[in-house]
Amino acid sequence: MARHLITSAIPYINGIKHLGNLVGSQLPADLFARYQRARGHEVMFICATDEHGTPAELAAAKAGKPVADYCTEMHEVQAEIARGFRLSFDHFGRSSSTRNRTLTQYMAKTLGEQGLIAEKAERQFYSVDDGRFLPDRYIEGTCPNCGYDKARGDQCENCTKQLDPTDLINPHSAISGSTNLELRETKHLYLRQKSLREDIRGWITSKHDWPVLTTSIALKWLDDGDGLQDRGITRDLAWGVPAQFDGAPWQGMEGKVFYVWFDAPIEYIAATAEWADANDKAETDWERWWRTDKGAGDVTYTEFMGKDNVPFHTLSFPATLIGVNRAGGAQWKMVDYIKSFNYLNYEGGQFSTSQGRGVFMDQALSILPPDYWRWWLLSHAPESADSEFTWENFQVSVNKDLADVLGNFVSRITKFCRSKFGEALPEGGVWGEREAQLIAELTTRLGAYEGFMEEKEVRKAAAELRAIWVAGNEYLQSAAPWTVFKTDPAQAAAQTRLALNLTRLYAVLSEPFIPDACAATLAALKTEDRSWPTDIRAALEVLPVGHAFETPDVLFRKIADEEREDWQKRFSGIRT
Ligand SMILES: [Zn+2]
Repeated sequence: MARHLITSAIPYINGIKHLGNLVGSQLPADLFARYQRARGHEVMFICATDEHGTPAELAAAKAGKPVADYCTEMHEVQAEIARGFRLSFDHFGRSSSTRNRTLTQYMAKTLGEQGLIAEKAERQFYSVDDGRFLPDRYIEGTCPNCGYDKARGDQCENCTKQLDPTDLINPHSAISGSTNLELRETKHLYLRQKSLREDIRGWITSKHDWPVLTTSIALKWLDDGDGLQDRGITRDLAWGVPAQFDGAPWQGMEGKVFYVWFDAPIEYIAATAEWADANDKAETDWERWWRTDKGAGDVTYTEFMGKDNVPFHTLSFPATLIGVNRAGGAQWKMVDYIKSFNYLNYEGGQFSTSQGRGVFMDQALSILPPDYWRWWLLSHAPESADSEFTWENFQVSVNKDLADVLGNFVSRITKFCRSKFGEALPEGGVWGEREAQLIAELTTRLGAYEGFMEEKEVRKAAAELRAIWVAGNEYLQSAAPWTVFKTDPAQAAAQTRLALNLTRLYAVLSEPFIPDACAATLAALKTEDRSWPTDIRAALEVLPVGHAFETPDVLFRKIADEEREDWQKRFSGIRT
């Protein structure tokens, strides 16, 4: 049994995410976690809300609530939506937890003791009209790298370059739009990433199996221009992990907190500790996932994220862990594989949280059950390039793949059996050449499906699963038990038994993609047997002669043209 540590990039606490966010991290991570569990492996699947930083402060102020209360409420909203999409986190943590504060301060202290944190006096933008220092995200301007005119002070979301606010051309306050900015003197802590550059390069270049998207972004920012630069890790904010604490190897950082991008990835570890706290586990139970000096040596760690998060996960967070590990105490597990995604676009443009354009996670669940969304999103995951959500494509995919192929197969064979043999697996007949051919095809396809799932090739895995469903339909079409029944009822019984067992097998194989349909099918078949097939022939004999079932309700309904047109209109403009 292997051990898989799986993390999804943690969504920011401020507001409900759209479908592009879902398919870029949480959903493919869930697919992989469910698959590894189905294969009998031990899985720790972690996600959390990213709660610190200015946007949370401002959103709380707007809502007229203390920021801690605001975050508690929004965490519960996001957790509820995650449950709605059947995201099977072992724990959904909070970066504002005590665990994360303790770990973040410990890591900063250890880095400081290693000489890897520098104190720098610097000049920072102070907005005279807003009466405050402006954190990076609250300064906007033109990206010096690509010319995008809405680049933020920390990163250009168009070209993903990490920025400092002073890099921006025509900087202005994102709060008030004011250009009345003054550079004033203040002191901040910097992570000395530059001195770790060769360690990071050696680590990245040792990862021969990473997707090109991941390594190309990492190497670009490692070597771009003057190469990897030291990174400011404190901000002038009240909400966050305090940068001045007992035992800190520096003074004078009162009133400052760690930059949200410093403490957010540490929350992957902290959330696993939160899991232990929530489940009455011992320290060693979470440490065995994260500390290679405490049993994590055999863990395979996979991270899932959108491409905009790659620089932080290939440079900043590894720099933190490499630096802390150098101290020779606790040895922290570093990621083995980073699966990154391009963007999902919406109907010829971009999803936009600020403009309310596209479908948001709560809205999606209000119109259709989670499996419909899970299937479309995963089978169209933006892996090799950006992909696009259109309502036409969504309708076609749901109606064909789910209703016509899978749903129709299950409905047809259960209804046929009920009408001719009753609701139990019929007796008689033997398998022949046609069945042998089906078993051979399914055996080949199962191997391919498993290979794509292991490689985290999401679209290819979906295509292979669909081909497995199609093979069953084609078998049923050519075997035609409804015709055979007239002349040879025993033969029709053998075909029906096979097809009913194939229904169970489909539920098992499809569970990582469409868990609700799997549960509904197994319930109808009155079996709890979810064992992953090692031999197709044996898997098609799991349900014996005489095993009773109930003809299930329609698994997937079709989307009508009028509905599609209605939704198209509803989600085109401003979210209300
Ligand atoms: Zn740019």
